[in-house]
Amino acid sequence: MLPTDEYLSKEELQTLKGVLEEQLETLISQSREAVSTLTEVRENDADPLDLAVTESNRDFTLRMADRERRLLGKIRYALERIQNGEYGACESCGEPITYGRLMARPVATLCIDCKTEAEQVERRKRVF
Ligand SMILES: [Zn+2]
Repeated sequence: MLPTDEYLSKEELQTLKGVLEEQLETLISQSREAVSTLTEVRENDADPLDLAVTESNRDFTLRMADRERRLLGKIRYALERIQNGEYGACESCGEPITYGRLMARPVATLCIDCKTEAEQVERRKRVF
């Protein structure tokens, strides 16, 4: 058994929930903005000279939207885990993730040890 003070306190959990909810709101309003930019770009397509620029802008906007969508999913998942009382425990080893780590990255699902290990595996995969 781990000492209880290594797990998140109610107040810490509440703070992290607030951070996640805020991020969720920011992302939703940002993606709304991105969609309206995309629509605007489409309306201005008339000039063929601008088309190349417009295309790359659109690619960029779509790529951004894709990344945001993924982050959105992670935030929703984190909020779900808070609901289920699973939040703050490493998905790999079950050890508590520190409050400091979660404040820096509230969507983290792995403790720092498992994350480091996962990254090393990733890196090795990339090299070979
Ligand atoms: Zn772990």
